[in-house]
Amino acid sequence: MTRTAVARAPGRVNLVGEHTDYNDGVCLPIALPQDTVARVSLRAGDRISITSAQQASVWTGDLAGCGPGRVDGWVAYVAGVLWALDQEGYDVPPGLDVHVTGTVPLGAGLSSSASLEVAVAVGVLALTGRRLDESERRRLVQVCRRAETEVAGAPTGGLDQSAALLTEPGCALLLDFQDGSTATVPLGWTAAGLELVVIDTGVSHALTAGDYGARRRECEDAALALGLPSLRDADEDAVRRLADATLRRRAAHVVSENARVLSVVAALDRGSWTDVGELFTASHASLRDAFEVSCPELDLAVDTALAAGALGARMTGGGFGGSAIALLPADRVDAVRRAVDTAYADAGFRAPRHLDAPASAAARVVEVSG
Ligand code: ADP
Ligand code: MG
Repeated sequence: MTRTAVARAPGRVNLVGEHTDYNDGVCLPIALPQDTVARVSLRAGDRISITSAQQASVWTGDLAGCGPGRVDGWVAYVAGVLWALDQEGYDVPPGLDVHVTGTVPLGAGLSSSASLEVAVAVGVLALTGRRLDESERRRLVQVCRRAETEVAGAPTGGLDQSAALLTEPGCALLLDFQDGSTATVPLGWTAAGLELVVIDTGVSHALTAGDYGARRRECEDAALALGLPSLRDADEDAVRRLADATLRRRAAHVVSENARVLSVVAALDRGSWTDVGELFTASHASLRDAFEVSCPELDLAVDTALAAGALGARMTGGGFGGSAIALLPADRVDAVRRAVDTAYADAGFRAPRHLDAPASAAARVVEVSG
């Protein structure tokens, strides 16, 4: 029987802390129930085949053909992991069949890409008989981050990979990009009768990549003008004195957003759900008005959810499309979804997709056979 390992890894949604990762800041993701499952089998010889239930193309090659500049499209995320594992000194078998299938919506800001990378990495690890302990999980964050940055060509700060590998069910993960530390933050809201929902707008506005780069540069310029290594060390008074109005707004978002992450953690600890909701909504206002990365679809989802009884709502992810989240009483979920659907139809927007978002488990090995 062919030796086979099956592994799964979740998508994620960031509760708060947006555009803070590349500013040495903090953020607070949870793992989603939606995931990617990778089936990795040994095969004789030195050929590697990569297939996905979500894609028509089939890739065949060898390990040497998995590196930067050798693969593109969706295959780069999978081949990139094999390359990065090899680079980091893992024993990657030369002959492999890799098949993936996923339920994380692609390109919705819920990190299907990291869930794909991590599922493949954990699958290969299990196949070679290595144990997935805590320190291994942390090494895989870096492996998958290298795959996405160096092979798929999408610079990533490690938020998505950390969420897929380090989260615990029922908990968020507080990530600090300045010192690399993480902390598990229990979410008591389910017991309090609340639910978190995701509204996937289904849109992705064309200018995203350029705007993302522009925001990063503006943040660097603001830090430079303040004489700081990053905006993490900036305070509100100094930001108010910045001469350039655009840089002032961008920096004000980053500084206030980092503070909101810590306030959300404190409010979660107290069980102050109204405060959590208000902080989510304040984060949205800051991303919309100061950082200017929202869009009409995200604003409508947030405003409608709030009007229909959500305690708080905000865009999540980089912006210009993607998804919004809302925290609301469980018995308001249907009403909020109906209200958002109606508002979208009235505005002439494409119908959004609704997802449940209970804080779920990190990546794991499902089975190893043969
Ligand atoms: P997000 O991570 O927010 O979903 P990205 O643009 O970072 O958006 O990653 C989406 C890309 O990841 C897809 O376009 C595809 O190339 C790849 N991908 C994710 N899941 C799968 C899958 N199950 N099969 C094939 N490719 C996938
Ligand atoms: Mg991604």
